[in-house]
Amino acid sequence: MSSSYRFETRAIHHGQEPDQATGAVIVPIYQTSTYAQEAPGIHKGYEYARTGNPTRAALERCLASLEEGAFGLAFSSGMAAITAVSYLLSPGDHVLAPNDVYGGTYRYFVRVLGRYGVETSFVDMTDLDQLEEAFTPSTRLVLVETPTNPYLKILDIQAIAEIAHRRGALVAVDNTFATPYFQKPLLLGADLVVHSTTKYLGGHSDVVGGAVITSNVDLYETLKFHQNAVGAVPGPFDCWLVLRGVKTLAIRMERHQANASQVAAFLRSHPRVERVYYPGLPDHPGYEVARRQMSGFGGMVSFRVKGGKEAARRVASQTRIILLAESLGGVESLIDHPASMTHASLEGTPLQVEEDLLRLSVGIEHPEDLIEDLEQALMG
Ligand SMILES: *Cc1c(COP(=O)(O)O)cnc(C)c1O
Repeated sequence: MSSSYRFETRAIHHGQEPDQATGAVIVPIYQTSTYAQEAPGIHKGYEYARTGNPTRAALERCLASLEEGAFGLAFSSGMAAITAVSYLLSPGDHVLAPNDVYGGTYRYFVRVLGRYGVETSFVDMTDLDQLEEAFTPSTRLVLVETPTNPYLKILDIQAIAEIAHRRGALVAVDNTFATPYFQKPLLLGADLVVHSTTKYLGGHSDVVGGAVITSNVDLYETLKFHQNAVGAVPGPFDCWLVLRGVKTLAIRMERHQANASQVAAFLRSHPRVERVYYPGLPDHPGYEVARRQMSGFGGMVSFRVKGGKEAARRVASQTRIILLAESLGGVESLIDHPASMTHASLEGTPLQVEEDLLRLSVGIEHPEDLIEDLEQALMG
């Protein structure tokens, strides 16, 4: 399908032409582990399902198109996708990552990759001077995540990519929070985009998956080799669920963002709220960069409540519609107390979060219901 079609159209059609055998409008779940060959080595492009699967191929093509990239690779989780990027590294290489990177990414780079001779430094990438100073002659990869989690800091992808490329390092952007609907890192100079498709791309809290997208054929070939060699591939049903989710990504993101900005405005004026973190608020430190590099501010809102840890835990326990759960990006609103849930493993590390902080994944319910729910939880 032509890539001249617009985002919403490609989300529904790209890589998803009607099934050649039957005309099925929806890409079938090719639940098979192997493919019959006509003669040894003569086949229809598929040999074994770790190497390739048509449902997965449809997802990979669609995601590549949405990110304005040439190649997509799907993985069994976001962490498997991030791990795949790390296969581009060798012992002795140095990595730079944001100082409030996703906790699982921190854990992987420090506790797993560290044992294989790859060292990672965590820096405040909102400060480009600090970033420059952190480079060493061995820095090979700059991992960017923006907006960050849970403080929703905004990192300037274009400026970071310029610095990194001048220093001979690759740039990978974890685009899970913004999604390609609001932010296209490859167009801002990134070499690789990484996703946890578990979140907004899947969008319905019913699948775990990941993806890597690039326009660089050499990086793609290396990653593709490792995708098959390592084997952290998603099953066809999981790929189908993500494809189904992606079809409605545009309208979901519009509503996530509309609801999130209403919730952020409500929280900001609430007497029991200490501080609100939402990149769409004009006094957010990253507001100007966000306006430049994103076409929307997303659906995540973090806030600190007055009264410390106990008050935060109480609010998190008292919401009724907004479910207390880890994860994000589904149609249903979720609340998280990062210090005791998603970010508990970071206690005692430089990535530790404040104990009065709450994180909301604002869903697509009616915004007034969400606001009333937060009101009763804050006042309860
Ligand atoms: C959830 C998440 C991941 C990890 O993805 P999984 O699918 O849980 O493995 C990585 N990065 C970000 C920003 C995430 O939110």
